[in-house]
Amino acid sequence: MSESSVMTETVSTIYLVCCFAIPVLYLILYSFLTKKSKKKNFAKALGIAICLMIILFSVKLVLRLNIAIFDYPNCYINNICSNDVDDENETPKKNNKDKTSATNSTSSTNTTSSTTPKKVNPNAKVYDNVKENRGTKTDKGRTAKGYEIYEIDGVTYVDGFLIANKTYFLPESYAPTNTYNKANPKATQTCNNCIEKEVWDAYQDMKADATAVGLNIYISSGFRSYVVQNTLYNRYVEREGGGETGKAKADRYSARPGSSEHQTGLCYDLNTIDDSFANTAEGKWVNQNAHKYGFIIRYPKGKESETGYMYESWHLRYVGTELAEKLYNDGNWISMEEYFGITSKYEE
Ligand SMILES: [Zn+2]
Repeated sequence: MSESSVMTETVSTIYLVCCFAIPVLYLILYSFLTKKSKKKNFAKALGIAICLMIILFSVKLVLRLNIAIFDYPNCYINNICSNDVDDENETPKKNNKDKTSATNSTSSTNTTSSTTPKKVNPNAKVYDNVKENRGTKTDKGRTAKGYEIYEIDGVTYVDGFLIANKTYFLPESYAPTNTYNKANPKATQTCNNCIEKEVWDAYQDMKADATAVGLNIYISSGFRSYVVQNTLYNRYVEREGGGETGKAKADRYSARPGSSEHQTGLCYDLNTIDDSFANTAEGKWVNQNAHKYGFIIRYPKGKESETGYMYESWHLRYVGTELAEKLYNDGNWISMEEYFGITSKYEE
């Protein structure tokens, strides 16, 4: 977390405490100064105190002072992040694509800065791709575009890049290993900071630069184990009526366990995890700047037939700056599938 966001949170926490403290102090002082107060007068004072509390809260809502508990979804209730159900893999909560009024609900300041983004990374810092796991390589030949494809412990790599999609599944036991917070492959919870260290560090750099231009980005969903994805997928299948029909419907928006990129620890979802994000100042900035930190829009617009997923402006995958620059394409992102000449289709 950057210094400025810590500062913002401290200020808003103090404010929130004052929302309670000021009316309570008023009430205590009132009772103290009017010891022989009549019940009627005390009730009146209580009413004033409650009104004061409501006014202070309203001011906070209007000013949109950011506080951690408002910014981050509670990931530890019901084992699933409140936003997770709307991931790649799921129908967006809101379909605001066509609305011209961009909902900039998460921005803490004005949105004009997004139209003229400050030049970030002037020294073009290089972010390297995350190294593949150690182990014996099993050669799987070449992709349609001639890239080397191989497996290590059941995990597929193309030209050194880990691939998890509808064609290439991850083993049930797979979880990222080089993380700041341990990623448990059997976890029943999601964990936002259980992603690879390089990914976390690059994200922190990007977040700091976004904050510097007045934008507010935050991870809403990071690592998800096979178990969590399995729970999510089965839930959707049941919701769609179960059986083969339910499965076919769920496949349109939910990843089958093992095929979700969230199990890799190389990706995360930002902010609201819905279509409206693309139209926010944050969404536009991320689309134009993520590549500078080694991130790509993994499921670009209009590439559903290649990636197997609808456009997801909020889902960022780390590949390092070298590949990210190639896929960026002036904001009209090229998919990994297209670039490497691989597919993303379930075998059926
Ligand atoms: Zn995602």
